[in-house]
Amino acid sequence: MTDWKNFSPKTNCLQDKVIAVTGAGSGIGSMIAISLACHGATVILMGRNVEKLEQTYDDIESHNAPQPAIIPIDFETATQEEYQTIQQSIEDAFGRLDGLIHNAAQLGSRTSIANYPVEIWEKLMKVNVNAPFALTKYCLPLLQKSKTASIVFTSSSVGTKGRAYWGGYAASKGALENLMETLSDELTETSAIRVNSVNPGATRTDMRAQAYPAEDPATVKPATDLEPLFLYLMADESIGITGQKIAY
Ligand code: NAP
Repeated sequence: MTDWKNFSPKTNCLQDKVIAVTGAGSGIGSMIAISLACHGATVILMGRNVEKLEQTYDDIESHNAPQPAIIPIDFETATQEEYQTIQQSIEDAFGRLDGLIHNAAQLGSRTSIANYPVEIWEKLMKVNVNAPFALTKYCLPLLQKSKTASIVFTSSSVGTKGRAYWGGYAASKGALENLMETLSDELTETSAIRVNSVNPGATRTDMRAQAYPAEDPATVKPATDLEPLFLYLMADESIGITGQKIAY
């Protein structure tokens, strides 16, 4: 069990850490990136929409937090060469990586398996599963250079128990949970890297509105409620916690 609920983050708890966040231009990812930076981290903002990433960048700068970096990448079309280039550019700029938060994802279709469009299923697997795998694979040498590295996979309640009409999204999050466990198990004896997954629960974002169009967004918690959980998992207080599925 983790005690993130009792975690009171100090303003400098992530000082000198270099942490990459995917999907950092909007929703939960943007909130995470700003929060990490405001607690001292140098954040690498990754995503497909440069304008949105620049908005997060400007928010971070307005807080006088450490200057972030932007790495544009579309996980739907990313090639091995692009992942290799990302590894090299992080190596050149920072020499290591202390944290990697896989947050970018797509919802896909909310329909039965019988009606599920094959091309949407394939896209979800690329963005929600293949990309976190490939990014992790190519970032592992950088994470190995940190004494306290932490990887977080952002999952969902349907990642541990499938549900009707959540099709490709549920299957992709199930795969992510399994990837998290496999990686944690592989690294436990051989490295200091900890690996966990987070189920953020219902959170007021575009994806939530897409999944529940009839819901009043005001009834759903804001992304900022997730701050202590993500800060805890990136801070040294969570050293030793690995292989855990953590639900908000
Ligand atoms: P969101 O607002 O839709 O944000 C998703 C992020 O992923 C966006 O920044 C989006 O970029 C990025 N993304 C999508 N496709 C991409 C691609 N091909 N390449 C690069 N980036 C891409 O959703 P959210 O609610 O913040 O979700 C964040 C995470 O929490 C996801 O993993 C989601 O599954 C999980 N989650 C959310 C909830 C919830 O209630 N909100 C509940 C459970 C789990 P663009 O801005 O360019 O679209």
